[in-house]
Order: sequence, then structure tokens, then C-alpha cells
Amino acid sequence: MYDVIIVGAGPSGVMTAYELIQKRRDLKILLIEQGHSIKKRFCPREKMGKCINCKPVCNITAGFSGAGAFSDGKLNSYHLSNTGVPGDIYLGGNDGGYYRKYYDIESIKDVIKYTDEVYLKFGAEPKLEGTEYQKEISELQDKAVEADLSLVTFPIRHIGTEKTHELFTRIEDYLLEHIEIKFDTEVTDVEIKEGICSGISVVNTYDKTKTEQIYGKHIVLAVGREGAHWLFGVCQNKGINSSSGPIDIGIRYELPDSVMKDVNKYLYEAKFIGRVAPFKDKVRTFCQNPSGFVSTEVYDNKIVLANGHSYKNKKSENTNLAILVSHNFKTPFDRPLDYGRNVAENLNQLGNGKLVVQRLGDLLNGKRTWDHELKNNSVVPTLTDATAGDISFALGYRTMTDIINTIKAIDKVIPGFANPDNLMYGPEIKFYSNVVEINHDFETNVKNLYCIGDGGGLTTGLIMASASGIQMGRIIDSKIKGELC
Ligand SMILES: Cc1cc2nc3c(=O)[nH]c(=O)nc-3n(C[C@H](O)[C@H](O)[C@H](O)COP(=O)(O)OP(=O)(O)OC[C@H]3O[C@@H](n4cnc5c(N)ncnc54)[C@H](O)[C@@H]3O)c2cc1C
Repeated sequence: MYDVIIVGAGPSGVMTAYELIQKRRDLKILLIEQGHSIKKRFCPREKMGKCINCKPVCNITAGFSGAGAFSDGKLNSYHLSNTGVPGDIYLGGNDGGYYRKYYDIESIKDVIKYTDEVYLKFGAEPKLEGTEYQKEISELQDKAVEADLSLVTFPIRHIGTEKTHELFTRIEDYLLEHIEIKFDTEVTDVEIKEGICSGISVVNTYDKTKTEQIYGKHIVLAVGREGAHWLFGVCQNKGINSSSGPIDIGIRYELPDSVMKDVNKYLYEAKFIGRVAPFKDKVRTFCQNPSGFVSTEVYDNKIVLANGHSYKNKKSENTNLAILVSHNFKTPFDRPLDYGRNVAENLNQLGNGKLVVQRLGDLLNGKRTWDHELKNNSVVPTLTDATAGDISFALGYRTMTDIINTIKAIDKVIPGFANPDNLMYGPEIKFYSNVVEINHDFETNVKNLYCIGDGGGLTTGLIMASASGIQMGRIIDSKIKGELC
């Protein structure tokens, strides 16, 4: 019997374990991960130049440090963010969700600051981008307001993809000194009797005949977007309360560094948020990668999505960023995850199992992009195996209109943002729309079963997922103290 079982070794699960170790050394803690140790994780694209759709799990999204391993390692200092509203802070794509509901701004700031210090301790980049050019940043914010957009700013610690990998290797080594970690082990079910969770069922990821029941007092689900679909099924089958939140659907946009040079220099990442006409849906830009590379990630062995990252040392001449539209579905259809999967599957089919890339100019002229046009394009794609085509066949009219009008609005702030040679890769979708209902202790309606990180819709992004893990560690520590009293 374990004191604590953590499912998923992404940043949220890893930080739960880290904080529990800081609090006490007498606990039996098990961290379970369906993917490999970070030392065995690599993406075949590096050597083969293309995605080979690793099975049974994608090496970009699964394994120690989860989606964080090959991430750009942009640690967003949200505790220092400027939203334009005095005293408020920005907390990522879902702006804090349940976190904001239960914790006041000052205590959230404290947890983010502490989380940032943990990353610094393991070797994160000491320099904070976006702190020097306050006058220039204010001018950009004024221009954004004129274009009916808001520009949320916050300092960023950019670790870089290769350094992020090294950092998480140090964290893995540290955790292995103190707790047990089972790699290549998939959790298939949770054991619930009379409203209390007592354990999990697992299977070896690579040998489905090897199964096991494992029991624990506190079970933390930290399964990330990789596990969101599985978690949705568990919620449905096991009576765990959850509801549908918005789904974020859109594209990865790539354009020359020269167009983005001021923004890259002043802010590193520009977070534009707008509600453009005619639909007034929330559209946001994020995950900006100066001199970066567009990448792919594969979910559930079949859904290919766009993402992006940048190295500390290896540089391209392009900047990429996500442009995502939030859609809500409630009545009569309330399954945004399914909607997102359908859009992704349609576009993947059109791209012959790959991402589709299209020039903005072609989209605006109502035509697809052809290979030879891509070859002569002034913006050279950094992702070489996307299929030239037409994104608008799969992304609906509403989503496309939102994206085009946002690009045109940003062009008023950053001239050249709407140049016809700029590239759109699709789809980019964030699967955190199954929002698991939790209380102040991140506990679900099932006793002793907790849910944190991106998978249950509590957070979006590295720093908030990690902060939720730190908080989780503290919560379980105080619960155990209470049990001992
Ligand atoms: C290419 C890329 C670049 C990114 N860049 C940034 C960035 O620069 N800054 C930023 O803030 N965010 C970035 N992100 C997002 C960030 O990585 C995620 O927000 C963060 O990793 C979420 O942490 P998490 O712990 O909630 O989930 P995850 O990191 O997704 O980890 C969940 C883990 O759970 C495991 N798991 C799932 N289901 C099961 C199961 N049934 N059994 C066992 N294990 C399971 C998965 O294999 C995975 O390892 C990036 C993501 C990608 C893919």
C-alpha cells in the first residue's frame, strides 16, 4: 500500500512528488508513467527528418516530464504579469479556472514564485526576458488597444528545448533518490468503492499481458493532454463529476524573425487577446518561438497536431506562434473534445496523415497551396514534412474568420504580420476541455482522488501545471498530518 500514487510524470505530477519530498521523507510514494525515463526519450524526427508516429505512445508528449520534455521551456512569470487591470494577474489559456476560484491572487503568486525558484534550483535560465523595454512595451500595448486587442505581458525565462531536457534529467535523478517511479506503465482504471478511491489498475505499455492492481491512500491524476481522452472516459464510467469547458482550435503561424524583431526583443512572447467581429469569440496568440521551429505532436496514436519550440543554440530565421480560437458547446451537443478530434481527424486525412501547411495569401485568395509554391515562398517552412494544402476545408468558417480577422488586427500593431507569404499550419488544438470538478484541495467528488495539471482542465502550460503540482504536494502533506493527529 502506497501513501501517494501519482499518475503521470509530466510537470504537474513531478512537482507533486518534489514538494512531498520537501515536506517529509517518511512516505511511500509511487509515480507512474506510461512513457519512458527521460534518458530514453528521443523524437525520431531528429534523425529521420519526419514524424514516424511512435507507438504505442508519442515520445514528444509521453515519458518523464510529459509534454514538457521537448517543450521550449518557456517559464511564464505570470506572478509578474500585467493585464492592464490593477492587482490582477494572467494565469494562462483558461486564466486560472478552478485555481482562481479557490485561491486568492496573492497566494497564487506565491506558489508560482516558489515553482519558478524550484526550476532555477535545477538549472533554469536565470535571465528574465521582457523586463527591460517598458516604454516600448507600453507603446505596443497602446497600439494593440487601437486595434481592439489587448496585449498581456509577463516576463519569460526561456530555457530552450535542449536545456529543458537536461533540466528534467536532473529532476528525474533527484526524484529517483527518494521515491519509486514505474516507467512504461499505463494506468487503465481507477478503483472506486462507495465513493472512495483505493487504487489503480495498470498494464505494461509494451506488453499488454502484464497487468497489476496497485493500492494507495491518495491517488493523484496528473495525466496531461495526452491522457485527457482517457480521463474523460474514466469520468463518464466512474461517476467522477466533470463538465465541458471551451476547446481551443486554430493554427500554428510562421513568419520571418525580421517582421517580429521588435516584439521578440522587447517581450520574447506577445500574448494578444481579442474578440474580433463578427463572432466576438475569444482569440489568443501564445507559445511564441523566436528563431524557432514548428513541430508536431501525436495524440492517441493518430491525431497529429502542430506545436512549436526553439532551441537555445540552434536557430532558424522564423518566429512561430499559436493562434487559437475558444469555442464553447453546451446544448444539445456538449462534447468539445469530440468536436476537436473530428476537426483534427478531417484535416489530418486531407494532409495524408500529416499537418497541412498553407500560405496566408493563398487562403485569402480562396485557393490551396501547392508544393512548388511553397518551394518558391519567401518564408521557408521549418517543418519540412507538412503537406501543402487548404486548411479551410476542415477548420470551420467561424474559426477561419476569427483567425483571419485577428491576423489582420495584429498587422496594425506589427506591420507584416499579415504578409501573404506567412505560413499557417493546422491543426493546432488544445485538448483540455474536459474540466474535472474539484474542490479547494483539488479533490474530485470521489474521496482521495485528486486531479491536477492540464489533463483535467485545471491549468494550461508548464508553470501553472507545475504550480498545481507544488500545491498538490502541500495539500496531501497537510492531509496526512491531519490523519496522524
Ligand atoms: C512541443 C511543446 C512545446 C511546449 N512549450 C511550452 C512552453 O514553452 N511553455 C509552456 O508553458 N508550455 C509549453 N508546452 C505545454 C506544456 O508542456 C504543458 O502545459 C505541460 O507539460 C502540462 O503538464 P501536465 O503535467 O499537466 O501534463 P503532461 O506534461 O502532458 O504530462 C502528463 C503525463 O501523463 C502521462 N500519462 C497520461 N495518461 C497516462 C496513463 N493513463 N497512465 C500513465 N501515464 C499517463 C503522459 O504520458 C505524460 O507524460 C509545450 C508543449 C509541447 C507539446
